[in-house]
Amino acid sequence: MEPRMYAYRCTACGKLFHPARAVCRECGGREFEAVPLEGEGTLLTYTRVYALPEGYMKPWLGFGIVEFPNGVRVSGQLNAEDLAVGMKVRATVGVVKEGVGRDYYGFIFEKAAQV
Ligand SMILES: [Zn+2]
Repeated sequence: MEPRMYAYRCTACGKLFHPARAVCRECGGREFEAVPLEGEGTLLTYTRVYALPEGYMKPWLGFGIVEFPNGVRVSGQLNAEDLAVGMKVRATVGVVKEGVGRDYYGFIFEKAAQV
């Protein structure tokens, strides 16, 4: 099964959250269903972190907040050189941390293909 990023919908009021919550902020509900976060998100803001631990082979890492078409906002790492507010991205799995002799994989946002 391909790993996917999910939002979590309160079964009582329908509010979506990411990451998962134990209690709904809107209604106090405690049951949630997983909803895949699909499609292109919009990069709302980002930053570059230059002070990286030893071992990274790149000068900086990008982190940002992405809004999906369903309104859910997710913070995460960005795999793109030319970052810009408003750019379209999609969630994928990639190297999130370079290690000595081993890379670590996780969810990362990459630039969506241009149409
Ligand atoms: Zn709720």
